[in-house]
Amino acid sequence: MDDCIFCQIVAGDIPARVVYEDEDVLAFLDANPLAPGHTLVIPKTHYETLDEVPPEPGEMMFAAVHYLTPIVEDAVDADGSNIGFNNGAAAGQEVPHVHGHIVPRFEDDGGSP
Ligand code: 5GP
Ligand code: ZN
Repeated sequence: MDDCIFCQIVAGDIPARVVYEDEDVLAFLDANPLAPGHTLVIPKTHYETLDEVPPEPGEMMFAAVHYLTPIVEDAVDADGSNIGFNNGAAAGQEVPHVHGHIVPRFEDDGGSP
């Protein structure tokens, strides 16, 4: 997908602050973070929404979210995190390449993002 911004990050054509990478998955810091350490987790292959993702890449992506959440929290000394997917434009998905958000939360941060 030449015009997909996240595919361009996977290809190395757009810079990103990569926090994790394996064969199937890339994780990088959000350019407009809702909180310090806000991380996006994507399959390297382009799928627009979760229903398009085959089981194996889906499992890899969720395994990466599981693995990375405590690492991200520790890195910014967070007290918890919101994990979420905006799935589809109607749900607020702005980048049409499926991605999970890890948004670190702090006891004194004043509530929901
Ligand atoms: P969505 O609303 O689609 O769930 O979230 C898209 C996220 O991607 C937003 O939080 C936005 O800040 C982030 N984003 C959009 N373009 C870029 C980019 O070029 N680089 C990075 N690192 N994040 C981006
Ligand atoms: Zn893409």
